[in-house]
Amino acid sequence: MTVLAYLADSNAGYVLSFRALVTGLPPGGVVLDRTYFYPTGGGQPCDRGTIELDGVRYPVVEVSKTGPSVIHRLGRPSGRSSTAPGLRIGAEVTGEIDGARRAAHRQAHTAQHLLSARIFALTRLRTRAASIRAGGGRVDLEGAWPTAPTLAEVETDVNDVRQRPVPSHIRFLSRAEWESAPDPRTGLVLLPPQVDPVRLIELAGVDRCPCGGTHVRSTEEIGALHLATAVVPGTTATRIEFTLDEAGPPTPTG
Ligand SMILES: [Zn+2]
Repeated sequence: MTVLAYLADSNAGYVLSFRALVTGLPPGGVVLDRTYFYPTGGGQPCDRGTIELDGVRYPVVEVSKTGPSVIHRLGRPSGRSSTAPGLRIGAEVTGEIDGARRAAHRQAHTAQHLLSARIFALTRLRTRAASIRAGGGRVDLEGAWPTAPTLAEVETDVNDVRQRPVPSHIRFLSRAEWESAPDPRTGLVLLPPQVDPVRLIELAGVDRCPCGGTHVRSTEEIGALHLATAVVPGTTATRIEFTLDEAGPPTPTG
């Protein structure tokens, strides 16, 4: 099994370098005892970067979660010396995460929560699916867009809230506690039965949402959102796509 170290708290989403032990070597990949690499899932793409041992750097090209293990799929190594023995069980390696890609995913993911929260506050439409990428993302709403407000009004609102700015916190609740007081926006979202405790991303006074993704510490790290509607083929759902302007610098640890 792999400890998902990036889940721990707000600061863990900013860790870009770590040490870990090799616990498995599936074909083309490596499993570590713990990792800060985010695996593809929950609408968020995986981190990329490198894993290094004995001066040999292996590019991490894909990260996925299979059962309790995170598999880092590796590309062709660089810096290999003829004497390097290669990855082996029990070796201590250094993981380095691509910081620009991680930052872009943090920004887009928190922007998506903020957008879903403000859409719900203004229209009562819940987000039933969402995905993000560097520089933007999309939310699929369970229903048709109302006659008011307009999308432009929602865009103004969400950017006003973003600029306050709003601090973000991670809080763990027991599943029973979470189920006893579900949030109106998310309801009892379909969490796998084994999820306990529940990891909540809180945007102070604005939103709380169960989520395993990586997030910014403050909305001041997010650039302006621009919204557009898109058709979801074969459904009556409303899809809102968003793009993000260039973001501000990370907020200090605290
Ligand atoms: Zn999320």
